[in-house]
Amino acid sequence: MRRRGLSIIFIALVLLVQGCSRGDPTVAGAANRLINAASEPQNWLTHGGTYAEQRFSSLTAISTANIDQLGLAWATDLQSERGQESTPLVVDGTMYVTLAWSKVVALDAATGAEKWRYDPKVPGRFGVSACCDVVNRGAAYDDGRIFVGTIDGRLIALDARTGALLWSQLTVDQSKPYTITGAPRVAKGLVLIGNGGAEYGVRGFVSAYNATTGKLAWRFYTVPGDPARRDGAASDAILEKLARPTWFGDAYYRYGGGGTVWDSIVYDPDLDRVYIGVGNGGPWNRKIRSEDKGDNLFVGSIVALDAKSGAYVWHYQETPGDTWDFTSTQQMILATLPIDGKPRRLILHAPKNGFFYVIDRDSGKLISAEKFAPANWASAVDSKTGRPIENPDARFQAKPFLATIGASGAHNWQPMAFSPKTGLVYIPAQEIPFLYVKDTKFAYRKDLWNLGVDMMSTPLPDTPTAIAGMKQALQGRLIAWDPVRQKEVWRASHAGTWNGGVLATAGDLVFQGLSDGTFRAYRADNGKEVWKFDAQTGLLPGPISYSVGGVQYIAITAGNGGGFALALPSFDAPRAQPPARMLAFRIGGTSTLPPLSAAPANPIMKVAGEWSEGQIAEGASHYGQVCAACHGMGTLSAGIIPDLRRSGALGDRAAWRTVVIDGALADRGMANFAKYLTPAQAEAVRGYVAQQAAKAIARGGK
Ligand code: CA
Repeated sequence: MRRRGLSIIFIALVLLVQGCSRGDPTVAGAANRLINAASEPQNWLTHGGTYAEQRFSSLTAISTANIDQLGLAWATDLQSERGQESTPLVVDGTMYVTLAWSKVVALDAATGAEKWRYDPKVPGRFGVSACCDVVNRGAAYDDGRIFVGTIDGRLIALDARTGALLWSQLTVDQSKPYTITGAPRVAKGLVLIGNGGAEYGVRGFVSAYNATTGKLAWRFYTVPGDPARRDGAASDAILEKLARPTWFGDAYYRYGGGGTVWDSIVYDPDLDRVYIGVGNGGPWNRKIRSEDKGDNLFVGSIVALDAKSGAYVWHYQETPGDTWDFTSTQQMILATLPIDGKPRRLILHAPKNGFFYVIDRDSGKLISAEKFAPANWASAVDSKTGRPIENPDARFQAKPFLATIGASGAHNWQPMAFSPKTGLVYIPAQEIPFLYVKDTKFAYRKDLWNLGVDMMSTPLPDTPTAIAGMKQALQGRLIAWDPVRQKEVWRASHAGTWNGGVLATAGDLVFQGLSDGTFRAYRADNGKEVWKFDAQTGLLPGPISYSVGGVQYIAITAGNGGGFALALPSFDAPRAQPPARMLAFRIGGTSTLPPLSAAPANPIMKVAGEWSEGQIAEGASHYGQVCAACHGMGTLSAGIIPDLRRSGALGDRAAWRTVVIDGALADRGMANFAKYLTPAQAEAVRGYVAQQAAKAIARGGK
């Protein structure tokens, strides 16, 4: 495989409850409200709109007939830096938004005026454990309480009216690099929460806490742990019976095994079950994790659990023996649709691996699976066994494998939507090639990325042309998919962008934001673009719709960031970064955003230095392994996290050491890196950054 040809390959570091039967006396009135969320279209009561998580609004005041009159009603500066991925909630005229660093803000949903703000004060040092920025995807609401998970692993309950803290519960072992970025869900008085960290070396699990007291009700681990220890969890028996026989060697429990439940958790009120989307194996490379053998249950699976006890009900593994970071954490939609003429209760799922799955949620059996993206790791899914038919080269042990769909996934966390009117699922899909090269020098490093895949094997782009080529390799597309016929109906293509989440409405519209800062509306039936707004900054979260005083609004959280944005460099020019905002639109809205202007940036530093070539090469290697995921490939920052070539500390050996080794900026998210770098290695990194700064100045960078 020619290296030069690979320079355009994007190797970006992404890397990243109606349930009860009728008359059940345990269901309080508040729980009934969530069960009947669809009857309150003026509100957006749960993360996905209703328990079915279809992200469909039945409001019709904004429609294909008047979409040309949709304008900005209000925009509120959220006072937050870094990535925004939050789907807001709206409850009786108040909007609840989570922000970077797990902060929460309540706004008047009609005016955008701030009502209260809560800061969980996550210590900045925990930022280093977040693979893909210190984002948060949303809160949960139930019975006057707001629930949010924090980057450092707490689950917090707030008074929805005042923002006052009601309780806080530590949900993880903080000595391990766990993080929470996903939205909690509430079902029958239990708050459900998972966590992330599979790139670093953790063991995934989901927990349920009593919504009133914060007391742990049950926990389910997704992968087996140390056989010498018992968890005392709901998963104990099933892990020994079903899962442990699918794992080999001892590396998996020494390294964690992965399988984190970092996004999708769905309550099924019809069956009183919880479905969890389980993440990738850790380390990625199954050779290291499990002697390259076994299905490694329950990584890459959907697992159904009893809502009350957390007991296992069924599982369906979409990616047996995952070795590609193919998570099944992507959002699940519940729907009842006709299959062979009979209505069936279904889960609709488009995970990273590129297949669209239709699963019977009574039995967990596969009904159908077809590719919605040109995935080359498997040719098809065998409908009899439910297993993928793998490309024999895909496991990259004998030679590298150039995957057309890689670790970024054919669909990532950005939520899709389903319109019961059109019967179509609207998927924010993407095609981002990825070269899998096994890491022949793998050595486990505590608290750092442990992939077993050589992320440094592809040359980093180091010219504007190469970066432009890399961005063009990113093919975002909104796909309208018929889940019954398993066929694409229409697509809107967006080369060079990362797709945002989707909202479908009964006004026959589909709304989607893009990483290029545009917010767009399409006809739900044929994909014709009918409206566009320039939001000045990346729009990745799921949009919502609600109404106050009879006026329908469409709202979306705007703000650059997230794993991918950090990896999309802006080369040598500082990029304008407007504040993160909540944007709300209505028919006849006439507000405007202030003009965008680049904030003054420090110049690229000219540093007189005396580093040997060997030192600089060593620094480049450490930079790639330790610094690049946040500060940008090849020191080319996206401008969201500081561009180190512009750092005041770059020219001062002692200052550099104070920041990198002593953690002088830990409160701002720049952890103490003494655990990961020796002072000499940190100095080598300084040499490399200084050399890259000099190169930038030589080519006219400022
Ligand atoms: Ca992952």
